[in-house]
Amino acid sequence: MIKPSIYGLTLDQMGAWLEEKGHKKSRATHVWEWLYRRRVTEFDQMEEVNKDCLQLLSDHFSIQTLTEHTRQESIDGTIKFLFRLSDGNLIETVLMRHKFGLSVCVTTQVGCNIGCSFCASGLLKKSRDLSSGEIVEQIMKVQLHLDSLGTGDRVSHIVVMGIGEPFDNYKNMSDFIRVVKDHKGLAIGGRHITVSTSGLAGKIKEFADSDLNVNLAVSLHAPNNDLRTRIMKINKAIPIEKLMDALEYYWDKTNRRITVEYILLKDVNDQPEHALELAELLKHRRNLAIVNLIPYNPVDEHSQYQRSEKDSITSFYDTLKKQNISVSVRLEHGTDIDAACGQLRSKQIKKDMD
Ligand code: SAH
Ligand code: SF4
Repeated sequence: MIKPSIYGLTLDQMGAWLEEKGHKKSRATHVWEWLYRRRVTEFDQMEEVNKDCLQLLSDHFSIQTLTEHTRQESIDGTIKFLFRLSDGNLIETVLMRHKFGLSVCVTTQVGCNIGCSFCASGLLKKSRDLSSGEIVEQIMKVQLHLDSLGTGDRVSHIVVMGIGEPFDNYKNMSDFIRVVKDHKGLAIGGRHITVSTSGLAGKIKEFADSDLNVNLAVSLHAPNNDLRTRIMKINKAIPIEKLMDALEYYWDKTNRRITVEYILLKDVNDQPEHALELAELLKHRRNLAIVNLIPYNPVDEHSQYQRSEKDSITSFYDTLKKQNISVSVRLEHGTDIDAACGQLRSKQIKKDMD
């Protein structure tokens, strides 16, 4: 039997689990200290923890369920890890270095059912959700790599923007967030965590009502239904009006900013009229929306799309600015190592099939 990852348990869940098995709840805090502060990778490295308790935990859980398959380092310091899950599936995790700290992009599903027409991750249908433990373990693997360098660096930011639709794996994504935010563990602040969704309206409302308190990013990519349906077929089921209604709900409830992601595809959605239409959509909430323009990373299988020219990116940016919309252009990381989501994994799977 494959044992689940111990990282999947929140502190409360571990305490309750131990209590149910006749142990003191407080032992969970002790175990957490060894897991997240001292970062051991074997149960028998946990000193001064009750032996029966450790035996019980190691009978039911595993600390290491991911194995590193490949690692690619970019000249800009970005590292892309390809991990093998215990069932053999491959996922990817990316470490990026910024002025403000170190961020990690995590995967939440094996494949993605949303199937956006430009994305490498959606080329393969979802075969399963990742458990919360498998998502936390990605962060731990990267942190352990940093620890091994001896520089004292810590993962300070998390973006849930790897393979998969996090809101299609809502429960596990929420537990993952609870684990990494906990002050007794990695203590990564909610303002340093961003979850990106393709726009599952019902889940956006649930997220607004939750106590997770992390940032939200929404993949809009087009300012009208015709264009958005062409790029993202999910727009048929959840059109822009429904999505905007969910964003309104989120804004009313939380008063937090939303990052509106917009991939620029040459001659498809990158014209000044698209920028004006986008500005119109957001103008009544201009203080609570920030548009993030994303230069497209070409994917072999989606050859109908090319990256927008520099001039188009600049004029799109300027048009939004003139309309007083907050806007930024996403800095690229690791383009030399296929660091756009899903690209390394899809290439590896192709190689494996050859
Ligand atoms: N499924 C979620 C989160 C993962 S995708 C979502 O779609 O929001 C994270 C971001 O990467 C999304 O904005 C997505 O549109 C973008 N992305 C996907 N493929 C890309 C590519 N080839 N080049 C640039 N950005 C891409
Ligand atoms: Fe899935 Fe996001 Fe890729 Fe769309 S962009 S296929 S939702 S991972």
